Amino acid sequence: MRDGISEDVQEDKKIQPGPSTETNPLIDKEISEISPETIEENTFPLAVNDQELGSVILLSADRDPGFYTPVEMDFKSQVENSIIIGGLISMILAAGISTVVSLTISRPINNLKKTAEGLKNGNLNLRAPVKGPGEIRELSMSFNAMAKNLEQTDYLKKKLTQDLSHELRNPVSSIKGYLEAFTDGVLPPDEENLHHTMEELTRLENMTEELHQLALVDFKQTKPSIQPTNVNSIAEKIKSTVEPLAFKKGINFEYKPDSHEVEILADENLLHRAIKNLVLNAINHTQEKDTIEFGIKTDSKKVHFYVVDTGRGIPAEKLPYIFERFYRVDEARSKHQENKGSGLGLSLVKEWVDSMDGKVKVESTEGKGSTFWLTFNLYSQN
Ligand code: ADP
Repeated sequence: MRDGISEDVQEDKKIQPGPSTETNPLIDKEISEISPETIEENTFPLAVNDQELGSVILLSADRDPGFYTPVEMDFKSQVENSIIIGGLISMILAAGISTVVSLTISRPINNLKKTAEGLKNGNLNLRAPVKGPGEIRELSMSFNAMAKNLEQTDYLKKKLTQDLSHELRNPVSSIKGYLEAFTDGVLPPDEENLHHTMEELTRLENMTEELHQLALVDFKQTKPSIQPTNVNSIAEKIKSTVEPLAFKKGINFEYKPDSHEVEILADENLLHRAIKNLVLNAINHTQEKDTIEFGIKTDSKKVHFYVVDTGRGIPAEKLPYIFERFYRVDEARSKHQENKGSGLGLSLVKEWVDSMDGKVKVESTEGKGSTFWLTFNLYSQN
């Protein structure tokens, strides 16, 4: 380390220009620790404009690699301390960052993973905690929505199987009962008893047909054949099939076609069946002297088919469920009705109307009557 000494000496000379007799104890101490035979002296003249002002003497020495001057020792220990402190700070920072990362990212992802495994094992009611940074929260929310859908689908699947078995068991056991009674001679196979047996068979037939229609919609096997449809002409056809049934029951049937000849985009067959279902329901849930009004109202953008009746109405708490499959407002009441329903009619109406981009709406007051609306966009060729 020749340069170590030369720099110190040089520095000293710079601070005190010109020849100096003063001694620096630090340098003296350093020099005294160096073996004299290794010291090399070099004198350099100091001149300005060829005029010699003095000279600089540079002392340099060889020394052992393990030898450090106190200044160097001081510098070395400062560097070592800085490295240790820097290392410690880096370690603390790294530990802090990894804790934060683990808390904010790894833990929520781990929770999602655990929830996904739970769902895979059939625990469909599990939900992931919504925690962590924005994206992870959004991911957890989407994941939970998917889990909720899975749970709902699973519930509907089980409920459908339960409802189906229940609904099919009743007419089948009833028909079997009649047939057993006829063969055992308990009941005579007379006109009345055969009529009851036939009724149960018809109910079974209607239900299987409705289920078939729902399956067609579910599996999108039949696409609605959408085309411009004149609303008055379709309403006229429905009126001519349902009016006799209403009159037969002693119901006042009023028909109010629209004063304009307007069109909507719809599948005529599906629309006919949907509206007819609503009017038949109205006939089914009204009594003699009640009134049913079937008509059309149009505004600048929409066409509304409506069926109003003054029948028994639907309790407010049951109204949200009436479009669900197999839902009947009153099971006991339905069993004693003339036309025992399956609880599938309104769910079919909704599916059909949805498939034609229409909307179904109901308003009802128990004991006073109900109004069903089917709304479609007005079709204009321009
Ligand atoms: P269903 O074939 O058994 O009539 P729907 O799906 O057509 O089944 O109707 C569901 C339930 O809504 C029925 O149980 C019935 O009680 C009720 N409902 C439908 N329309 C009317 C109405 N106009 N007045 C009173 N209740 C109705």
